[in-house]
Amino acid sequence: MDTVDAERRLPERTRERLRNRVTSTGERDELEVTAPYTGERVGAVPLCTAEDVQTAIERARAAGAAWAERPVEQRAAILQSVADEMLDDRAGLLDTVQLETGKARFDALEELLDVVLNADYYARKGSDYLAADERTGGLPLVTTATEYHDPVGVVGLIEPWNYPLTLAISDMLPALLAGNGVVLKPAEATPFTALRAVELLDRAGVPTDLVQVVTGRGETLGEPLVEGIDHLTFTGSTATGRIVAGLAGQQLVDASLELGGKNPAVVLEDADIADAARGIARGAFANAGQLCISFERVFVDQRIYDDFRDALVRATERLDVGASFDFEPDVGSLIAQHQLETVQAHVADARERGATVETGGQRREDVGPLCYEPTVLTGLPADADAAREETFGPVLSVTPVAGSEEAIARANDTDYGLHASVWTADTERGRGVARQIEAGSVSINDGYLGMWASTDAPMGGVGDSGIGRRHGRQGIEKYTETQTVTTQRGPPLAPVDGVPKRWIGRAAQAGVEVLRWWRRHRPGGP
Ligand code: NAD
Repeated sequence: MDTVDAERRLPERTRERLRNRVTSTGERDELEVTAPYTGERVGAVPLCTAEDVQTAIERARAAGAAWAERPVEQRAAILQSVADEMLDDRAGLLDTVQLETGKARFDALEELLDVVLNADYYARKGSDYLAADERTGGLPLVTTATEYHDPVGVVGLIEPWNYPLTLAISDMLPALLAGNGVVLKPAEATPFTALRAVELLDRAGVPTDLVQVVTGRGETLGEPLVEGIDHLTFTGSTATGRIVAGLAGQQLVDASLELGGKNPAVVLEDADIADAARGIARGAFANAGQLCISFERVFVDQRIYDDFRDALVRATERLDVGASFDFEPDVGSLIAQHQLETVQAHVADARERGATVETGGQRREDVGPLCYEPTVLTGLPADADAAREETFGPVLSVTPVAGSEEAIARANDTDYGLHASVWTADTERGRGVARQIEAGSVSINDGYLGMWASTDAPMGGVGDSGIGRRHGRQGIEKYTETQTVTTQRGPPLAPVDGVPKRWIGRAAQAGVEVLRWWRRHRPGGP
């Protein structure tokens, strides 16, 4: 591509409007945004300060108070309008996502559809999750207990660049539905995507001050943000996750952390080899491998290893690397020089340690300055960088194993635990293997899409991959404080005036005897 034609994709007047949506209270230095496809300048946003963050939190909190008073059905209707706005503006949104990330258009489309799915899901189901629940009281017939779900106040979102639309908005929608204000800190590389999406929220009827956006450096904005908010949703690297978890711990602010992964795919001997190869290639090279749930390691039963490796190489070589704003390329660009350097370093380290590059292993400067071929490695030693550290790029290693037991052990030989997959003709057996893999989600006979689109089921990581879950009931409850209100029928549970204490003691002991008898004889046994 000669030029991204930034003026056509994101015209100056739109950039100016989006820039003005940032909460900054004075003259600020600028943060430059470039297009990975060509390295051209896209525009600039303010480098916000701690003062801007405080202002943003104050505004979100003030707007949140009125928002929380609205009936939940009204808030849900606005979420449905958000989905409509996203669909109506799809061409512009996809252009902006591609402009800032350099990803393929299919990958950008997945982001958009994810936002629509989440908006629709929480608009339909959210009010049930937020409704007051009658609970079993302490004393049957005497005590009633009701659980209420209140908004926490202000939710802070710190987001990465790899899925700048879906991660900023899909995680925000349940927070809004629950009645909270929000302060969003998008990644340095992708502020215009977040701002464009927030503008659509404004159009859909979300009160303007309710969602504040601060742009700039995480190192500057993280601390003041965590100090002022009531829940932190952080998505990013495990290293930064540890820093923000420390800040949240100091403030006793609840936090959900969606972090890195080193996701395995396990191919059993009865798998359909062609399907597994195709599915794993997509699951590894979607978003040029810059996807938290993409595969970086495959463990294949040795009985089908040769056939599978060959099929995987063929499936990988069918993927077109490209830089264009249409649906032709399968694999887009990496986002930045530091990503390219990590990919190159991991492949160089693998080569030095004797691994074979079955396909790929080269830059594609003819396509774009940051493009890199989807790469399949074999013979990778277990202690190589590409075997242990998150590459977060289009590099996949394939290793033969003696059977499912070894595959599970190798899959679990990592500090991460985000996502995994199992490939088999026997889905019951696959489920058994899945249950032994230490990961927050496991897809059977699929890469990641079916799991990701299952918005009714929680998704998140174990170990170094994070704390907390998005999607489903857990994905909205984390944005609430629960309050339990109990009501007592009859007199309070307290000594009655004038009754001697020894009588009360006897009555209490008799009560304990009744409890003991009941525990032994109740229906269903002790
Ligand atoms: P990153 O940790 O470098 O940055 C993420 C965000 O944190 C950015 O907005 C950044 O500005 C901010 N930040 C940086 N330093 C900070 C600090 N000291 N305090 C507060 N905020 C700070 O991550 P990245 O490179 O943008 O994203 C890639 C990583 O994200 C990968 O490890 C990937 O696996 C992970 N990720 C995880 C998920 C998931 O759902 N588990 C999803 C997407 C990406």
